[in-house]
Amino acid sequence: MIAVESRVNRLPRVEVLGIGIDPVDMESALRRIEEFIEDGRPRIVVTADSSGIVEAQSDTQWRDIMLNADLVTPDSVGVLWACKRVGSPLPERVSGVDLVEALCKKSAEKGYRLYFLGAAPGIAQAAADKMREKYPGCTIVGARDGFFPPADEAKVAQEIRDVKVDVLFVAMGIPKQEKFIARNLYEMAAKVSMGVGGSFDVLSGTVKRAPMLIRKMKLEWLWRLILNPRKWRKVMTLPKFVWLVSRTKR
Ligand code: UDP
Repeated sequence: MIAVESRVNRLPRVEVLGIGIDPVDMESALRRIEEFIEDGRPRIVVTADSSGIVEAQSDTQWRDIMLNADLVTPDSVGVLWACKRVGSPLPERVSGVDLVEALCKKSAEKGYRLYFLGAAPGIAQAAADKMREKYPGCTIVGARDGFFPPADEAKVAQEIRDVKVDVLFVAMGIPKQEKFIARNLYEMAAKVSMGVGGSFDVLSGTVKRAPMLIRKMKLEWLWRLILNPRKWRKVMTLPKFVWLVSRTKR
């Protein structure tokens, strides 16, 4: 195992193209996030997919955020493949959308205060309503869209601070969402902040998840691609990812 020591993890991270991935499954990732909430210091969680890792090869600010994140989960089949290739197979994907759902469920049990920031106007609110319906008692203390002008950023951060957030989900696309989090981490003072990409579009029902059979066949990416041709740019980074990983020594 090529290992990079994680700041908070007992187990060594698995290195993929210079980025450390925490060897977690959904259950252990959730445990770690709950530890962060109990601890209370602002933490960053990144869900790493192959296109994000390719982007980190040329975007140093994004790369630094990933390297300094408190938890980096494997969020794509490509990342799982790369980890296996270096001799450290990981059990499963831990994706943003699954973490949002799991934490809404936990919030209903434990009262965690969640905030949904991002996506087009109305979508975060619609996703929050769906989650409140599905997990009665889930505490979503605020929701707003991700298309505010840069001049409003401090005001948005202050709004989040004012409602005392345990877990902040930011859905503005990689790496814009993580850069927003890094810039405003201490102002917002959320205990855990996490970029979740297109999750609110999915959870609000604006974008349908692939049928279970297609998910089981690990072809959800193909389903999304067919429904959203804008995703082509992202998918086009996959061959580069495979090529870069194949060049590295096992
Ligand atoms: N988005 C946003 N603000 C922006 C740009 C994008 O809130 O300035 C939202 C967009 O509406 C979508 C999400 O960010 O809901 C990006 O989703 P995508 O699936 O492209 O994310 P990624 O693939 O990067 O995880």
